[in-house]
Amino acid sequence: MIERRWLAGIVCGLGISVLVHAVPLLDGNVIPVKPAKLTPQKKEAFLWIDNALPELARLNDEIWRKAELALQEKESAEILASYLETSGFRVERGVAGLPTAFVATWGSGAPVIGVLGEYDALPGLSQEAVAFKKPLAEGKPGHGCGHNIFGVASAAAAAALKQVMAREKIGGTIKYFGCPGEETVTGKVFMARAGVFDGLSACLQWHPGAENEVSLDSSNALNQFEVEFFGRTAHAAGDPWDGRSALDGVELADVGLNFLREHLKPTARIHYVILDGGGAPNVVPDYARAWYYVRNLDRDSVEKDYARVLDVIDGAAKMSGTTYKIRFISGVHEVLPNRVGAETVYANLLLVGPPAFSAEEQAFAREIQKNLGVAEKGLKTGVEPFREPEKSWGSGSTDVAEVSWITPTTSLSVAYEPEGTPGHHWAAVACSGTTIAHKCLQTAAKVMAATGLDILQDPQLLKKMRDEWLSKTKGKPYLSPLPPDLQPPVKK
Ligand SMILES: [Zn+2]
Repeated sequence: MIERRWLAGIVCGLGISVLVHAVPLLDGNVIPVKPAKLTPQKKEAFLWIDNALPELARLNDEIWRKAELALQEKESAEILASYLETSGFRVERGVAGLPTAFVATWGSGAPVIGVLGEYDALPGLSQEAVAFKKPLAEGKPGHGCGHNIFGVASAAAAAALKQVMAREKIGGTIKYFGCPGEETVTGKVFMARAGVFDGLSACLQWHPGAENEVSLDSSNALNQFEVEFFGRTAHAAGDPWDGRSALDGVELADVGLNFLREHLKPTARIHYVILDGGGAPNVVPDYARAWYYVRNLDRDSVEKDYARVLDVIDGAAKMSGTTYKIRFISGVHEVLPNRVGAETVYANLLLVGPPAFSAEEQAFAREIQKNLGVAEKGLKTGVEPFREPEKSWGSGSTDVAEVSWITPTTSLSVAYEPEGTPGHHWAAVACSGTTIAHKCLQTAAKVMAATGLDILQDPQLLKKMRDEWLSKTKGKPYLSPLPPDLQPPVKK
């Protein structure tokens, strides 16, 4: 674990007060990056975002209130699609067979800059914008991953870019991708397979979090699938020899997988839940169903582990005398970081600076921390150092990874969660419905717009990003982890 220490303070000189947000103490892993230059075009974009903030805040709060689940984000997608349509973008709704996916395009010709937006909420996390647990509607979804902020900030970046490009006669195309179902790791996977991201020169992406940071770390590749076991029912005491337990199939599969772990690389991760295990102990269950995740550092490792997992499931069916059916849900690659792009985003994050949270917003964050029993440090006010990637051990997975194998993709995190509070939690829902979220989205939109302008105005930068991407992908075309005949999991 690398210790992160900070110097922060007020420097006064020449009669000007300058807030030094955070100056990292250098260590071997820190990559020195200077703040990007404030060009007149960036200034224009920042001003546009500042002026648009009341409307952006309204959109943020509206999507926060709707809190629609993955692939059901009908109204949230429409709020963003019509915002961009009104801003002059051409909108194509329902792409890749996903009714809540859309693409909003402005401009023409190269370069083509993509901006990713997400807007799905999480089940059971409904929460008012208060510092203690208080559901808005008991048991309903809530924005516990800040995707309401995500979708709006990306739309703001796209609209700001369009504004400046039109006024300054900067050539190129901006494409906003309305990406549904990120929480189920599905939306972008189906969009990628359908070729929705093809033809991009580069793509910008961000995620709200606890830190202001640009990371070179990757994520885990993943396969997720369901297995149904089919047996034969019988009286569990009267004639169990006539029964074949589907639950035995699931249990033997899980026992086998737990033994398998020892003989996989330590970076492999297998998780499961039993969704259906029968109705009563005195009836031999003829049906059982379980849901599995297989993760590892890269796509090849997941494919290899997955093949062995399938063998174990097959063996379990033989042992239990049952049959089984596999329903593949989704699969993703690991994220392919782009160092040149990341450095550019980081330079722009230093230029824009972290969100300037008010004393009241910090007090709100500390109250949440107090209620959760974690250190009352408030929200991060500094920018984390730009570091060499760390060895990955068991990180999560994201469908953004698919885009990163189709075009050089940049990432960014901007703070909205109080330090030390868990993600996917009521605390995150509370913060994403307040002015904390508005400041977070303002910062993210500015950093992405500035990065977009750098790419649009500096062909050498884009070339370097693409050269790096080409050398890492070795020119291999993107291969979807999905079976070719798999349809998106959309309720008809
Ligand atoms: Zn998320």
